[in-house]
Amino acid sequence: MIIAILLGLQIGAVPPSVVSARAGTLESVVPLVETSAGRVLRLDRLAPALPITVRAEGPGEFLVSLFDVAMRLSDQVPYARVGTTLIPLGGAPLMDRGALLVPLQLVSEVLPRLVPSRLSYDPVRSELRVLRGATAATPTPAARSRTKRRVVVDAGHGGPDNGMTGPIGSRQKIREKDITLAVSMELAKALRREGIEVIMTRTTDTLIGLYDRGPIANERGGDLFLSIHVNAANLRWRRPGDARGYETYFLAEAKTEDERRVERMENEAIRFETTVQAPKNDPLSFIIHDMAQNEHLRESQELAAAIQAGLGRVHPGPSRGVKQAGFVVLTTAFMPAVLVEIGFGTNVAEARYLATPARQREIADAIAHATMAYLEGYERRLGSAGR
Ligand SMILES: [Zn+2]
Repeated sequence: MIIAILLGLQIGAVPPSVVSARAGTLESVVPLVETSAGRVLRLDRLAPALPITVRAEGPGEFLVSLFDVAMRLSDQVPYARVGTTLIPLGGAPLMDRGALLVPLQLVSEVLPRLVPSRLSYDPVRSELRVLRGATAATPTPAARSRTKRRVVVDAGHGGPDNGMTGPIGSRQKIREKDITLAVSMELAKALRREGIEVIMTRTTDTLIGLYDRGPIANERGGDLFLSIHVNAANLRWRRPGDARGYETYFLAEAKTEDERRVERMENEAIRFETTVQAPKNDPLSFIIHDMAQNEHLRESQELAAAIQAGLGRVHPGPSRGVKQAGFVVLTTAFMPAVLVEIGFGTNVAEARYLATPARQREIADAIAHATMAYLEGYERRLGSAGR
C-alpha cells in the first residue's frame, strides 16, 4: 500500500519527456533533452503543426518567425529579442550540431504570450495549441486592400463596470458606459453608410473583458479598432470640474503624468472581470503585446491624428491633443487601434453635451469621416509603396 502510494507520487512528479504542438489533428512531437541548464528542445521541430521557422543568421544567431512575429535568439544568451525589446528566458538557448535548442519555458510561456490570440499552452499535456482559425497568418490590411473594410467599434465599459460617472457637483448623473454605447451605435451607423463593415464588441449593456476585446477584433478580421471612452478629471486637481476637452490615444508607453492617469483609469475596468486571461501586474505580457503592436504604431498614430482633427470641427471643448498610453484594450488588437476620450463627463457643460443624442451623432459622424479619410490615405500609402 505504502509502496503504491509512493509510486503514485513519483509518477505524478515525473516531468514530461516530450512537448508537442497541435493544430487540429496535426501534431508535432519533440523530445525534451535534460541538460545542466534544464530541459531544452529543438524549436524548429515544432513545425509543421506550429507555423514556425528557425533560420541561422550568423554564427550563433537565429531568426525565429512565428505568424507575423520575428524573434531573435543567440547561443548562450538568456534573452529573446523582439524588435528592441528583450524578453528574459528561463535559460539560455544552446547550439547542438548547428541546431538551436531552447528552454521549455520559451514554448510554455513566451510564445503563447507573444501571440495570445493564436496560441495557448496546456501544461498538463505539455502541448502548445494553435488556436482555431489561426493557422494562417492573419491577413494584413494590405492583403485585404481590395475587399470591404472592416472597422471594429468598441464601446468602453458596460455591465457592472459603469466607467466614470459625473458631472462633479450635479445631481443628474451620466454614466460613461451609456454614453460610449450610444456614440458607438451612431458611429457604427455612420461607418455602415460609408460602405464599411462594422464589428461591435458590444451592442448592449454587458461587460466584455478588456483582454477579450482585442481578440474579438482579431478573430473577426478587423482592419481598424476604435475604442470610445469618456474622460474624468482627477479629483485632486485644483478645479477638477473645469477640465474639458477631447483627446485621442494610440498604444505606446505613457510618457506624461496625465497620460498615466488616463491609462490607470481605463485599465481599472479589469477589476470587474472574474476571469482575466493575462495577469494584470505582468509587465512582460504588456511589453510583448506592445511589440506585437509596434508594426501598427505609425498607422495608429496617423489614425489618432485624423480623429483628433475631425473632432476639432464639431467639439466645443479644447483639443487636448494626440496622446499615447498603454491601454490593455488596445494591446491585444493586432491592427491600427486608437482610444478616443470624447470629453469630460466630470464637467457640467460637457456632460450635458455628451448626453445629448444630436451631439452624440455629431461626434460619431466626425469620427466616422476622419476614419474614412484615414483609410483613403492608407490606401494611397499602400499604392505608392507597392510601386
Ligand atoms: Zn473609459
